[in-house]
Amino acid sequence: MDLNLEGRIAVVTGASRGIGRAIALELAREGCNVACVATSAERAEETAQMARDLGVKAKAYGADVSRFDSAQELAASILADHAGGIDILVNNAGVTRDQLILRMSEADWDQVIDVNLKGAFNTSKAFAKTLMKRKGNARIINIASVIGLDGNAGQSNYAASKGGLIAFTKSLAKEFGSRQVCVNAVAPGFIETDMTHGFEGEQREAMRAVIPLGRFGAAEEVGRMVAFLAGDTGSYLTGQTFVIDGGMAI
Ligand code: NAP
Repeated sequence: MDLNLEGRIAVVTGASRGIGRAIALELAREGCNVACVATSAERAEETAQMARDLGVKAKAYGADVSRFDSAQELAASILADHAGGIDILVNNAGVTRDQLILRMSEADWDQVIDVNLKGAFNTSKAFAKTLMKRKGNARIINIASVIGLDGNAGQSNYAASKGGLIAFTKSLAKEFGSRQVCVNAVAPGFIETDMTHGFEGEQREAMRAVIPLGRFGAAEEVGRMVAFLAGDTGSYLTGQTFVIDGGMAI
């Protein structure tokens, strides 16, 4: 089955680098136009240029997704540029502030929940009406994590945000199903990006050792899964969490 993404319009948050950039470029390779969002438009511009080089329309936007008003302003500017509405929202922006709970500050907790979980609420709400008006084939894809399924010492804030995101995904799938909006989560394991570059030496080796495929994943591998869900190939998939982790969480 063809993905049939040509000429459609996707919003990808956290698109300045890593998994978000790979998602934006994988969608662009399929002919999908992309609105690339990061904390500032300047930070997302390089990805937007890379997408334009692939022959699609792409523009960089800045927003702090953790702030309700910023997500509303983001939606207003994107919809001003795309009066007909958007087809796909990928909630990918995310942060970590790892600490054991005894050392975790209130700010560490709030920051991770605010970006990873409330951010997805803010943008989903801001784009909900336009997605529902697409009359079929619209998508929300939330980038969760295997940590949201299994938990991890030192990541209680992150695990709670991603577990919450998975529950949020299932609820939106039920709310939006009658409008033919498919809502799914993708749960990566360890992927080579800035977020995991800090893990070195023995710690990295210990992480690699629990992955049956014996390596960290590439951001492009996550991008391909998102494109599959965004395309016609995902037309009867909703409310699910797709684990992409080299076998880590079996
Ligand atoms: P990354 O390289 O650290 O990139 C994070 C992205 O999120 C950047 O584009 C950043 O924009 C954006 N962002 C952060 N806070 C934001 C905010 N308040 N408003 C708007 N954008 C914001 O991370 P990554 O590894 O690609 O991860 C992407 C997603 O995958 C995250 O949700 C992460 O939790 C999830 N994930 C990653 C892994 C992994 O192993 N890497 C595994 C499982 C899940 P700026 O450049 O402007 O800061």
